Amino acid sequence: MSENAASGTIAFLGLGHMGGPMAVNLVKAGHQVVAYDPVPAALEAAREHGIATVDSAEEAVAGASVVLTMLPSGKHVLDAYRGVDGPGLLAVAPPNTLFLDCSTINVDEAREAAAIALEAGHRSVDAPVSGGVVGAEAGTLTFMVGALPEDFETVKPILELMGRRIVHCGDHGAGQAAKVCNNMILGVSMIAVSEAFVLGEKLGLTHQALFDVASNASGQCWALTTNCPVPGPVPTSPANRDYQPGFAGALMAKDLRLAVNALESTGVDGQMGHLASQIYDAFAAEGGAGRDFSGIITDIRDKSAK
Ligand code: NAD
Repeated sequence: MSENAASGTIAFLGLGHMGGPMAVNLVKAGHQVVAYDPVPAALEAAREHGIATVDSAEEAVAGASVVLTMLPSGKHVLDAYRGVDGPGLLAVAPPNTLFLDCSTINVDEAREAAAIALEAGHRSVDAPVSGGVVGAEAGTLTFMVGALPEDFETVKPILELMGRRIVHCGDHGAGQAAKVCNNMILGVSMIAVSEAFVLGEKLGLTHQALFDVASNASGQCWALTTNCPVPGPVPTSPANRDYQPGFAGALMAKDLRLAVNALESTGVDGQMGHLASQIYDAFAAEGGAGRDFSGIITDIRDKSAK
C-alpha cells in the first residue's frame, strides 16, 4: 500500500459510546467501512446507520487498508492484534495495512502495539481523542497522533472526518503520551479548583467573586473557566445539570491510572499525579463513576463538613 489507504476500506472495531458515532461520521463522508463489535446491539445500531457489519474482527480486517480500533483498554488492543484463541489481526490483515488505534491506552502498550505491527509488516498509528461522546457525534474530536510522518499524512484526511483538531505529537506512542500528560493536568487542576471553591465557601467568599478574580488572574485554567465545578459562573458547565457528564469520573480515574503508570515507568517524581489518581479512584468507587469529574467538589465539601 498504499498511497490510497485513506480511500480504501476501513475495518472499524469497537462500536461503543465513542466508536459508534465515529464510524457513522466516516460512512456519512462516503467511506467504505466494515465494522465489528462483539455486542450484538452495537452491530444492530451500526446497521441502522448504514454501516456494513460482519461477524468477526478477522472478517472485517481481511479486505481492509486501514484497521481502526476504538476499544476499552490496551489489553483489548494487544489481544486483538496478537489473537487470543485465533491468529490475531496482524496475521490476517493484508501486508502493509495501517493499524490506527484511537483507544486511550498506556504509552508503553501503544509502543508495543506499534512494534508488533511493524514486525508483522504493517504500519501503526496511535491517535487517542479528547472531546467525549458529544465530540464523537459532532465530528469535533481532537486527535493526538503518534506516527511516522508519512503515516500521519495518510491518516490525517480520515481523522479530519471525525475531528476538528489533528495534532501530530511525534513518533509511535507520542499521541498517548500527549493525552496522558494533558489529562493529568486536568485531573490535578480540577481538584485544585474544587478545593479552592470549598475553601472560599468556608471563608465567606461567593462563588462568583472567586470566579471573577481567579478567571482573570493566575488561577485561570480550563477546569475553572469551562468546566467550572460550581453552578452559576459558567452556565454550560456540568455543575449546572447536577454533574451529568461531560467527562465521567470513571474515565478520569482510568486516565489518571495511565498517568501513574507512565510516571512509574519513567521514574518521574509525580506526587500530584499519584494523589489525583487516588482521589479519582475513590470518587469513582464511591458513586462518581457516572458523574462528571467536576463532581469531585461535592466529595471535598462533604469530607470538609464540620
Ligand atoms: P465503550 O466501552 O463504550 O466501547 C468499547 C467497545 O469495544 C464496546 O462496544 C466493546 O464491545 C468493543 N470491543 C471490545 N473488544 C472488542 C474487539 N476485540 N473487537 C471489536 N470490538 C470490541 O468505550 P468508549 O466510551 O467508546 O471508549 C472507547 C475508548 O475511547 C476507551 O479507550 C476510552 O478510554 C476512550 N475515550 C472515551 C471517551 C468517552 O467520553 N467515552 C473520551 C475519550 C476517550
